[in-house]
Amino acid sequence: MQAKTDASQVYISAVVPMFNEEESLGQLYDELTAALDATGRTYEVVLVDDGSSDRTAELAQDLCDSDDRLMLVRLSRNFGHHPASTCGMSHTSGDVVVLLDADLQNDPVDIPRLLEKIEEGYDVARCWRQGRKDPFWRTFPSKCVNWLTCKATGVKLHDYGCSMLAMRRCVVNRMMRFTERSRHVSGLISWSGGKVCEIKVRHRERKFGSSKYGILSLIKLTINLMTGFSTIPLQLVGLLGVATSLLGFIGAIYLVIKRYVYGVDLDGVVVAIAIIFVFIGINFLALGVMGEYIGRIFSEVQARPYYIVDTVYRKRSEKGDDEQ
Ligand code: UDP
Ligand code: MG
Repeated sequence: MQAKTDASQVYISAVVPMFNEEESLGQLYDELTAALDATGRTYEVVLVDDGSSDRTAELAQDLCDSDDRLMLVRLSRNFGHHPASTCGMSHTSGDVVVLLDADLQNDPVDIPRLLEKIEEGYDVARCWRQGRKDPFWRTFPSKCVNWLTCKATGVKLHDYGCSMLAMRRCVVNRMMRFTERSRHVSGLISWSGGKVCEIKVRHRERKFGSSKYGILSLIKLTINLMTGFSTIPLQLVGLLGVATSLLGFIGAIYLVIKRYVYGVDLDGVVVAIAIIFVFIGINFLALGVMGEYIGRIFSEVQARPYYIVDTVYRKRSEKGDDEQ
């Protein structure tokens, strides 16, 4: 069953960021189109190739040739999951936009349930992964990021890490107004307001390839999140400074009493080294936090595009240098 897509009539737009996902693409296409067909609504699928070095783009182009409801947006290099998702969102025209990963960890059969929630009146319907099939080194940092995101956005959800979600066009339009370079898409969607709900979904194991999030990219994402949503880290460093100075002061009084009231000999060098280490540590921490904010200001001032589109392919190729 294949209907010609009239852009003005599209109801659901599915956005799939892809980075080296050649093995999953065929199965993803089958499962996704089956789930979207089951909704009985008109739809389009925006595949975003985030600078893959394997055959992902080639295979996606073949799929576009066989199904005109598909569109392939190729970025000029690898920009990352969040820029790729944002780029995909900017190319949608549907009333409801669904984001999902290409690695088959999200199950497209959940799309009709997300849609139901949107039709019930929610602006954003998100997924809460049950029995997550990821290793501990991947789930533990996610729990920390989730806790931080709840604090930063003020919207308490169980699973900010699940990229699959559905949102109304108005939420996408709001997202398109953000200009910052270091974004946490999921956090920003909550931060921008609206009625949000969560549905429980089954999480699947990654069948092909491996997670594109190494421990370093997770740390980077967490720092982005903390410094992107608040100045709390700066305030915390200030508080830490006050607390340690107070401790140092109390310690000094104790040592003075010990030496002059009780006449106990102290090893001055050890005491001095301990105190110096505490203060050097605090200084470096403070510098690091400030450096992070200055780094953010630097990249905002540079105002480079968040991503660069190389080509937009929709059966008949058109070259563009659409950037944001
Ligand atoms: N992804 C991307 N660009 C990147 C890294 C990942 O477009 O630089 C895509 C990836 O192909 C997948 C989704 O983003 O569709 C989520 O990535 P991954 O599965 O590695 O993340 P995890 O499931 O471990 O959170
Ligand atoms: Mg994954």
